[in-house]
Parts: sequence; C-alpha cells; structure tokens
Amino acid sequence: MYNKVSSKAEEFINDEEILSTIEYAEKNKNNKKLLREIMDKAKLEKGLSHRDASVLLMTDDEKINSEIYSLAKKIKEDHYGSRIVLFAPLYLSNYCINGCVYCPYHAKNKTIRRKKLTQQEIKDEVIALQDMGHKRLALELGEDPLNNPIDYVLESIDTIYSIKHKNGQIRRVNVNIAATTVENYKKLKDAGIGTYILFQETYNKKSYEELHPTGPKHNYDYHTEAMDRAMEAGIDDVGIGVLFGLETYKYEFTGLLMHAEHLEARFGVGPHTISVPRIQPGDDIDPSDFKNQLADDIFEKLIALIRISVPYTGMIISTRESQRVRERALELGISQISGGSRTSVGGYAEEETKDKNSAQFELADNRTLEEVVDWLIELGYIPSFCTACYRAGRTGDRFMQLCKSGQILNCCQPNALMTLKEYLLDYGSDFSKELGQKLIDSELEKIPNEKVKAQAKEYIDEMETVGKRDFRF
Ligand code: SF4
Ligand code: SF4
Repeated sequence: MYNKVSSKAEEFINDEEILSTIEYAEKNKNNKKLLREIMDKAKLEKGLSHRDASVLLMTDDEKINSEIYSLAKKIKEDHYGSRIVLFAPLYLSNYCINGCVYCPYHAKNKTIRRKKLTQQEIKDEVIALQDMGHKRLALELGEDPLNNPIDYVLESIDTIYSIKHKNGQIRRVNVNIAATTVENYKKLKDAGIGTYILFQETYNKKSYEELHPTGPKHNYDYHTEAMDRAMEAGIDDVGIGVLFGLETYKYEFTGLLMHAEHLEARFGVGPHTISVPRIQPGDDIDPSDFKNQLADDIFEKLIALIRISVPYTGMIISTRESQRVRERALELGISQISGGSRTSVGGYAEEETKDKNSAQFELADNRTLEEVVDWLIELGYIPSFCTACYRAGRTGDRFMQLCKSGQILNCCQPNALMTLKEYLLDYGSDFSKELGQKLIDSELEKIPNEKVKAQAKEYIDEMETVGKRDFRF
C-alpha cells in the first residue's frame, strides 16, 4: 500500500502507485482542462506531485509542451539566476564486489585495470585538481569492504581537506559510496562531507534485482532506504538520481518524484540534488544492450519536468553528456555540472592509456575545465566555485527555507562572482581573465541589494590588491 511517510521501500516507492500513475497519465494526457489546471499550478513555482507531473510527461499537446520548456527556463532563472556550480569527480578505487550489469567495475570483469589510490596518490590527484581551479569534489568508489572500508573513505576525506597547494583548497567533498549503515553515515557526517550521493539506478524492484544479480547491492530495499538511514544519521543534504536507460523513463520519472516526496514528507527536506545520468559505453559495457535507452528529446523533457516538479532541488549533469546536450540541459534546469573530469582512478595526476584503463565510462565532453569556464561565460552564465552554504551551516531545512523564500539569490550571485574572480586570478588564462572580468563587472551591477553589492566589490578588490581569498556571503 502506498504511504509516502513510511520508512519501508515498498510503501514509499510503491509499484502499484507507479503503475496506476502511468495509467492515469496515459488516460489524461489529452485532457485539455486537466492539462491547463496542472500548468496553472506549475506556474506558481512551488512544484508538482508525481501524478500531475506524469500527465505532463505523457502529453503530446504541442502548446503545453512548449509552455513546459518556457516554464522550466523561467523557474531556473528565478531560483538559480545565471550561476552554474562546477565540480569534479574523484575516483578513489574501482574495486567492487557487486555485479551491476551496466557498470564495467562489476566483480566479474577481469579485463579492467583495478586500482585503489594510496593517500600519497590522493594528494597528487587533489593537487592536480586544485591546479585546475576546482574547489568541490564528488568522491567515487566501488563497494568492497576489504579494499574500500569506511576507514579508508574517512582517511581519504581528511587527506583531501588537509591539502592546501598554492592558493588551492578543496572546500566541499561530496561522497558517492554504496548504501551503508546509520553508524557509517554518522562517521561520514563527522568527517565533514557535503552531500551524500547515491543513485537508485532503477526504482523498478524486479528490474533492479535482475540488473544487480550478485553482491550486497542486490538488496533493493536496503539500497532504496539508504537515504532514510543517511538522514537519520544527520546527513541532511542527499543527492538522488536514476540511471536512465535501465527501465522505462515513465516508471523512473514517477519513482524519482515519489522518492523526493517521501524525503520531504518524512524528514521535512527533499533531496538536495537530482542527477540525470544516462548509460554510457565503458570497458565491457555496450549501451545498445539496454532496450530502454533514452532519446535526446525525451531526456530534455524529463529535465524540464524535474525542474518544474522540484524547483528547490539542484540538478546535476556530468561529462557523460556532450557539449550540445549539456548546453540545452543548462537552459532547462541544470544548476551544477562537472568539468575537466576523469572517470578513471588516478586519472588527473597521470593520463590514462588505452591498455591501462581503469575508467568507469567514456566521456562525451572531454574539454578542460578552462574550456568549460570560457564556454559558460560566453553563454552568459556565471561559472561558480561556491561552497558557502555548507560551510556556513546552511544545509537541510535551513538551506531549503532560504531557497523557498528566494533569499538564496542574495548569496549565490555575489558568491559566484567572487569565486569566479578567485579562479581567474589563480588559474585563468589571459583570454579567460578578459572574458570573465567583463562578466564580473556587469553582473556586480545587477546585485539588487546595495549593501551586498558594495561589500562584494570590496572583497573582489581585496583579492586583487592584497591577495586575500575565500570570501563568502
Ligand atoms: Fe560497483 Fe557501483 Fe559499478 Fe555497481 S555501479 S559495479 S556498485 S562501482
Ligand atoms: Fe550553492 Fe549556497 Fe553557494 Fe548558492 S550560496 S551557490 S546555494 S553553496
């Protein structure tokens, strides 16, 4: 029975409710009166239920579809302004005891090069990332209690935060590790992580069990209830997502929104971020083996509808996607992207070669961070290396309150400009500096609050004249 406040996976991600939502949406997809009512609700910018959003997903009404795209764009601008937050993944180890059929790190793959970074190698990676200009990382590891125990993760987080190379500093470490116990989540919280990220892969239990035939990840309920345990442990920023292509997008979309509704109903805070990965080729993985692969047009509609349904949740797209796809996704709702990424273990300090490959998947966007920064500026976005909220304790419901009242924009815009200035001073080419400075000058003038504007200008001046760093609102 569907119960969104239940702590049981089968009740808050209820198969019957998903199937009946899909049926309801199919039946009503051309119901003009209902479509109009849902759009009117969506325009209040307070979100939509999974039922309402599913009707919009199914409709082929051209007028409604074009309204969906314009509204997604408007919500993106109203809630996030023009800043785009940048981060990089850092792969610590690709040892894994699970059997996920879509990932080349699965235990049976004997051709991939297995590697686990030592603390010295982590230091080398972090220095390489700092020298690019990164301030935010997402740690990635396979599940392997022997090779990647929680103590290794904690020690690695300490190492990462401790490295200060030149003006470089990693200020927020998000962590993507396998579902674990409340006790281990408490340890991650005490280590000072930002967001705990775990993708559901698929919400369909039957498919999930087939796609995860072996290893602890086979347990659907334990995996699906992971965010509840993380929140019980006090981690209040959690990042969810599905791997699009494993199941039908209609099922996944409904499940994803139900998961967000569940976290909000049970803990008072929805997910901090939603990621939208699609299956990519990897060492022994061929995406054409998966019959539910997602076409670009549906992918764009899903992004727009997630943006409309959960306006207060950040949205992430990685370098799995091409420059072209990412450009469109930025318009429709994405607020965070990775740049200059390597998906191999140790790939930042040392270039991977084909015969020594430990990468999880192929990248569709191979540009350097500098190229991504220049590209964003040329598109009119402010590349942001901001980590202010988490460091100021603005997490969970405190963060959501600021978002919902619109106050967050008084922080994001100046913080984006100040962190961009830091980046340009320490890592920017002459070309980036010229491009970026023009943007900073014009965007500073757009800060509505005069006091904040004057303070931001003062801070930026101090960066330039006395070499100070790490200002934030
Ligand atoms: Fe291991 Fe994660 Fe890959 Fe599954 S998806 S094989 S758990 S690294
Ligand atoms: Fe994110 Fe907060 Fe910085 Fe805004 S001020 S970009 S919400 S960390």
